[in-house]
Amino acid sequence: MNTTESRICRIIEDHASELTAFANDIYTHAELGYTEHRTARCIAHWLTHRCGLQIQTDLAITGVRAQVGNTRPAVCLIGELDGIRCPEHPMAVQETGMSHACGHHMQLAVLAGAALALSHPDVAAELGGSAVFFAVPCEEHASMNRMAQLKRDGLVQYCGGKLQLLMDGAFDDIDAAVTTHAHMVNCGSDFLLGSNSTSGFLSKLIRIKGRASHTALAPEKGINALDVVTLARSAVGMLRSTFRDEDCIRIGEVVRMNSTAVNVVPDEVIVDLQVRAKTWEALLETDKKIDRAYRGAAYAFGAQIQITDGMGYLPTVPCPPCETLTQAAALLSDQCTAQPVSPFVHNAASTDVGDLSHRMPVVNFTFSGFSGTLHGADFRITDEKAAYIQPAKLAALTMYRLLRHNAAQARALIDSFHPKMTEQQYRAYAARFDNGFIGEPSPF
Ligand SMILES: [Zn+2]
Repeated sequence: MNTTESRICRIIEDHASELTAFANDIYTHAELGYTEHRTARCIAHWLTHRCGLQIQTDLAITGVRAQVGNTRPAVCLIGELDGIRCPEHPMAVQETGMSHACGHHMQLAVLAGAALALSHPDVAAELGGSAVFFAVPCEEHASMNRMAQLKRDGLVQYCGGKLQLLMDGAFDDIDAAVTTHAHMVNCGSDFLLGSNSTSGFLSKLIRIKGRASHTALAPEKGINALDVVTLARSAVGMLRSTFRDEDCIRIGEVVRMNSTAVNVVPDEVIVDLQVRAKTWEALLETDKKIDRAYRGAAYAFGAQIQITDGMGYLPTVPCPPCETLTQAAALLSDQCTAQPVSPFVHNAASTDVGDLSHRMPVVNFTFSGFSGTLHGADFRITDEKAAYIQPAKLAALTMYRLLRHNAAQARALIDSFHPKMTEQQYRAYAARFDNGFIGEPSPF
């Protein structure tokens, strides 16, 4: 470890109690995606007053960005602002049920610690590019229902914060990203280095319109929309036997209806559906099967059906750890254990980092310090040093190593990266959802 690296670690260590208090404050004030105003203010205040940086705010509503240096290449460290609804979580906000059961507050402590270390004048002087600190909104995905409202209000167009920021051009002057998260797959080490593949997903809003009538007096005049959904879901259930294990397909559904009287045939049912798969191809193939199941069931009953497809997240491009990250973790090996991701482990969850990974190199690591399940009421921080302080050091050391010596390692990373999608291709992909159908539209 050279003098600057020791200095980076010392700055973070010296501010450990302050960073822990900062993390715990955010932990107990979780907010819904695209409404993280208080959390954004905390980050903005830290970057301005503790790090002396100029900030940009209100990016995709609540995003906050600051940077050390103003030359390329620019490497950003990302922290996610939003919580997840989990009212049973002991730290949940009582009025809203929002909690940080996905540990995004840990990422913000990492961002705060790394920003503090890298903005120190002696450290900043060694950086050969820009270190960008980017707190981004709404990783947890806004449902199609919520998106409809957000679009109507003219606030945002895309269901994930990184999607919106990519489309707004907020990443246009950034060449690579460092991302972190609490461990998402089982890992016995303090750090898991690199990116596992994650599933991509599509959202669907399925509206079945039947016909109301008296269930006893005139059942022949009714068309039961709930029966259509029952038949469709049975078909989807049987179609599961056609799914290949390696495609890791998951289908989640929520059925909503307004009917209150049992003696009236239910005339309208809405199904919110998410389909996930390991690859985009498997996703599209499964999506067609779901469409056929629902349309076929509607046909059987003579009901009308409207299916709207919404943009979800792309699968994450898997990536072993780069040399820089491995070396940075080795600097901390007397305090923390680390292991690289296994190419054989797939994460069935989805993240908008997937979209980012199609566009720029992503240096990712996950970390420990908690017990229980992500998004679960049993999620607990068990080791504040492992959850907030050690990952801040790893993020700061990685950023420093990428950018020192005229950013030689960042340049090598960027030069060796081949994007899976150009900006134009990404915009064309997003435009597929503009009319609400990626399959064959049918009139309602
Ligand atoms: Zn998360």
